[in-house]
Formats: sequence, structure tokens, C-alpha cells
Amino acid sequence: FTSRQPDPDRVRTTCGYCGVGCALDVVVRDDRVAAVLPAPDGPVNRGHACVKGRFSYGYLTSAERLTEPLVRRNGALTPVSWDEAIGVVADGLRAAVEQGGPDAVAAISSARATNEENYLVQKFLRTVIGTNNVDNCSRLCHAPSAAGLTASFGRAGGTDPFDDVETADCFLVVGANPVEAHPVVGARLLQRALGGAALIVADPRAVGLARHADLHLRPRPGTNVALFHGLAHVLIAEGLTDPDFLRDRATGLDELTTLLTDYPPTRVAEITGVPAEDVTAAARLYGRAERPAVIYGLGVTEHLHGTDGVRTLANLPILRGAVGGTGHGFGISPLRGQNNVQGASDMGALPDLLPGYRRVTDPEARARAEAVWGRPVPPTPGLRIPEMFTAARESRLRALWVIGEDVCATDPDSRRVAEALDACPLVVVNELFLSETARHADVVLPVASWLEKDGTFVNFDRRFQRVRAAVRPPGMARTDFDVIQAVAAAMGSDLGCRTPADALSECGRAAPVFAGLSHARLDREGAVPWPCSSPDRAGEATLYAEEFATPDGRAHLSAAPYLPPGEEPDADYPLLLVTGRRWAHYNSGSMTRRGGNLLLDARGLLDLHPEDAARYGVRDGAPVTVDSRHGQARLIARVGPDLAPGQVFCAFHFPDEGVNSLTSEHADAVTSCPEYKVTAVRLRPTVPE
Ligand code: SF4
Repeated sequence: FTSRQPDPDRVRTTCGYCGVGCALDVVVRDDRVAAVLPAPDGPVNRGHACVKGRFSYGYLTSAERLTEPLVRRNGALTPVSWDEAIGVVADGLRAAVEQGGPDAVAAISSARATNEENYLVQKFLRTVIGTNNVDNCSRLCHAPSAAGLTASFGRAGGTDPFDDVETADCFLVVGANPVEAHPVVGARLLQRALGGAALIVADPRAVGLARHADLHLRPRPGTNVALFHGLAHVLIAEGLTDPDFLRDRATGLDELTTLLTDYPPTRVAEITGVPAEDVTAAARLYGRAERPAVIYGLGVTEHLHGTDGVRTLANLPILRGAVGGTGHGFGISPLRGQNNVQGASDMGALPDLLPGYRRVTDPEARARAEAVWGRPVPPTPGLRIPEMFTAARESRLRALWVIGEDVCATDPDSRRVAEALDACPLVVVNELFLSETARHADVVLPVASWLEKDGTFVNFDRRFQRVRAAVRPPGMARTDFDVIQAVAAAMGSDLGCRTPADALSECGRAAPVFAGLSHARLDREGAVPWPCSSPDRAGEATLYAEEFATPDGRAHLSAAPYLPPGEEPDADYPLLLVTGRRWAHYNSGSMTRRGGNLLLDARGLLDLHPEDAARYGVRDGAPVTVDSRHGQARLIARVGPDLAPGQVFCAFHFPDEGVNSLTSEHADAVTSCPEYKVTAVRLRPTVPE
């Protein structure tokens, strides 16, 4: 098939892997996916897609798909009817509330769920159970973006539309590897760099873009804040700021200027390992550009001080006056890792925020939601994901519903996560496969994947796009939307939204920033960014043209000092491990590992420098055992120059190999986002058993 052939059996949908949000045309034959093609008129991808979106659909027909509900009987997960499974869930939730009150119940939602499903699950927890114990997987990745960008600018998203990269003339790409993790974005950035735009890459690894960069800054993992302060120091010292913007639209300059006297490039070089002249050169390149852009990824957020990292990085466009519709820059954009991680938070699947980021502690916000939902909303913030696990281990949590997350594979210190699930009297898991988490569940509910359901996703630059079912889910599998409705009904409640379209419309009544959105509008227009306050107004692709959304209408500079990471190398654990993604796989790999046509990266690899390989007697391609203070992983060594000596890297797509048993429980103080990017480890050749 070519992407231009007319075909009545094509279904336009949005990719369910990364947060770029590529529009895809799914070619269907006999209720099976025959091909997936990048939509030539896709708003973000413009006819492009990567290996995941195009070819990773073989999992749909995998013999391992769950096709019937399972309930644990005499220790074994046993097939039952939907009625029986829903009854067990409803009875279990009721019992948990009776024994421990509403706060004895919690749910973890995810980017795998549509906006409408995320909306429904938070509504279920708040109005049927009576708790704010709902969270989503952004807790583990971009929660510091939401907190940091809100504190700096007022809204929990990137400031400008990605299409503006076409006019940006300098890119500062920090802690991101878009060539592998967001390939369509990576390709567009590469085109801009090859076309003459300046490119600064700040990343400990020689990621794909670094090979084309004017400057590659390689900070030691965990030292981002010092690096950003060094760049800001040079901007101020060399007069590369926008005094009018700082006077009229920002606040916090005096405090930041005082702090930055402690961060001259020479001191920053000592902390970060980045040569002082490179710090100065990068600041000059960014500061002298006409339209500079900051783009960042999880290398900024997944740290002990991730929110400080976001905020101090956001200082740069504020100092430069390159944000707020000034025409002088692109602002700042977080590359959201997963397809709908932005939307899951937008919809209020968060313990402290209602749909549209309105605080549960705000009586006016609660009153608006209560008027729409017809039920009271609890005023006390609920538990975050790590707190849910602690509560389960301490017997305070009696029921946990996990929707689309394999928490045993993807959350840090996975051995402790499994202990928490085993301690919880009722664990319900909505899944495609019998994941690690599902193996610890009492009830496993088979659900539809992104190619089998209707709704919407929100991509990394805040665009709502439609998701459409191309094929039917296998066997008895149902959508998460149907399952949540059914459990509510079994508990005697009607959630009131018959269809996903109803749910999005209702969400718009509860949250003014989504009031202009509907499935009908998205069907007509393709993509609409939020905020979008009215059906007859365009969404705001560029934010803050008139004022920032902070209480005083100004952008807020952050004067947070640099603080060291949670773990440092020592004699016992002399290496620093960074975890991340690889190009062909997605998260726990449950879908991409079952693609059937992805033969590369079939095992977990550990990247390390030749000096470390020689020091520890490890050969390229040989099995290697990695130990941390928390656990052990067995991987295959890949020796090369992409990392500095003393640092190693691996992905978390292969749960059997135990990567997330290595990572610690250190987490960002503001958001509880785990410090996946800094773990002290040691390694040795694996001895055959
Ligand atoms: Fe596009 Fe990301 Fe999907 Fe690849 S994984 S097709 S870049 S949305």
C-alpha cells in the first residue's frame, strides 16, 4: 500500500506509542490490521511515522492476548464470565470501603487509556468510591514538568506549538534522545540542524542528535540544575537577556541574579564535568539566537530534583524573552514519553487535581465539578503512586485497580512494588497480556488496545486528536471505558456518560479549558490544542501571548540551588547507571516485543565505555550482571564510546532482566517522580550457571 491510495477500509487514528501523536491510517482486511501507514496530512507527522507506529501491531493477534476475565481461585487465576468478574470487583471495592473507608481504595490509570477513560476512572474514584486516590503514569515521568511549568508559567504543558520548530534558529535539546524515543520529532529537528539551525545537545550520552550538534554538553548524571544555572549566569553576565521582558512580564530576577554569583562556568565545570568554555559557548549560542527553542525529555525530570530541573531550565527562555508569544522564540517544550501521558493528567487522573488542573482543595473548582457530576467531591488530596504502594505494605490500602500499567516492570525498586501488591487484599488489573503486575492480581480484566477503541489522546504539544477503533478486541476483551461503567453499575451508580464522546463533552463542562472540544469538532478539524474555551474559538497553540497563567500574570524565575542526586558512586558501587528507551520498543515492551517483525534489540543491552569493559573484564556481546543496592539485572554488554567512563546505560523494555529492580526509591521531593536517571551500580561478567 502507498499512503496515497484511496481505500475504503482505512481507519484514521492516532499512534498509541510515544507522545508525538502521529496520525496513522490503518488498513483493515477481514477485521485484521493489514498495514499501518503514516497519514500524509497528519498534523504533527506530515506523512512520516517510525518503526513502532508503522510496524508494531503484531501484538494484536498474539496468542498471548488475554481474551477472558480471570479471577484468582485457590491461588490460580481462573477464567470466569464478565458478570462474575465484575461482581468480584464490585464486592471487593465495597468491602474495602466498609473495612477501611473510601481512602482504602486507589486506582492507577495510564497513557494507554484514552482521555475519556482517564476522565471516567477519576470520576468513578471521586464520586462512586469517595476518594481522590487516583494517579497516572505521569507520576513516573513528567510530573515534574507539570509542576515546574505550572510554577514558572501557569499551565502544565509546553508553551508553543511544535510546528514553530520550522522558524526556530537554535535548539537546546536537553536530556532527550528524540532520534530513538520520538523519531518523528527527532527527524524534524535533524532536518532543521542540517538546514543551518544551531543545535546544542545536553546529555551524558552521545545520543543520535549529538553527532550533528554544534555543541554536545555531557553533564554528569544528576547535575542538570548546576548546568542550567551556568548557562543563565553567562546570559546575565554577557547581557544576553531581554530587559524589557524581564521588567514587564517576569519576576524573581534579583533573587536569581544573587544565586547565580555562585555558578560561574568554572564552578559549573567542577560540578558537571562540562568544560567551562563549552558552558559559555552554549549560552552565547542560545542567547544570541533570534528564535531559540528549548526541548527536553526525561533526562531533566526523572531526578531527585526533577522539578527544580524543569524550573531552572525554564529560566533560560524567560531570561531571553523567548516565551509568551513575543516572536523571539519557541519557549520550552517537554517531549512526553508516552502517547497520552499529557491527556491522563489533563483529565484529572491525579490525586490533587480535577480535570483541567483545578485543585481538589479549591472549593470553587469542586463546586463546578460537583454541579456537573451531581455528587460531592472529597476535598483532601489523595495518594500518589509510590504512596499507594507504601499504604498497601502498611495495610492501609485494601483495594488497588491498575489500568494499563505494568507497575511491577516499570516502577522503581520493583521488588518492593511486588511486595505491596501481594499485601493488598484486592488487586484488579486491566491488561492486554498477563503482565508481571497481572501475575500478582486477584482479578485480571482483558481489555482493548489503542487500535481497538474510540476516544482521544493529547500529544506532547497539547493537541487533542481522535483515536478510532480499527479492529475489534479479541475474544471477550472490552474497552476500559466499558469496564469502568460496568463496575460502577454493579455498585449501583450510573457514571452518566454513555459514550466516549459524551465523556469528553461532559469533561468540557467540568473544566473550562476543554469547553470547546468535542469528538464532532475533532472529526472535522483533525487536531485542536487546549486551552480551548469555546466551540467557536480556536485552541491556543501558543500560550501566554497576553499574560502568563500564574496568579500575578508573570513568568516566575526559579532560584533553586543545585543539590546532589540521591545516589553517588562509591567504592562498592563505582558506576552510575542511567535508564531510558531504545528505538524499537515501548516501555515494558509488552506490545513491541510481541510485534513479530522486530528482531532487533531482542534482549536488554548494557552500554558501557571500553575503559570500563577492560576494567571489569567484560567483553562486547557477553552476558553481564549488574548489581545496585536495590536489586540485580542480567544484560548483554555493548561496548562503545557513547558514554563517558564510569557511566552505563540500559533500557527498561525487558522486565525479565530486572532493570527496575536496580533503580532506587529516591524521588523528586515535589512530585514523587522517581530518580531513574541516577543509580550507583557495579558490574561483573555473568558466570554461566
Ligand atoms: Fe509517531 Fe511516536 Fe508513534 Fe513513532 S511512536 S509513529 S514517532 S507517535
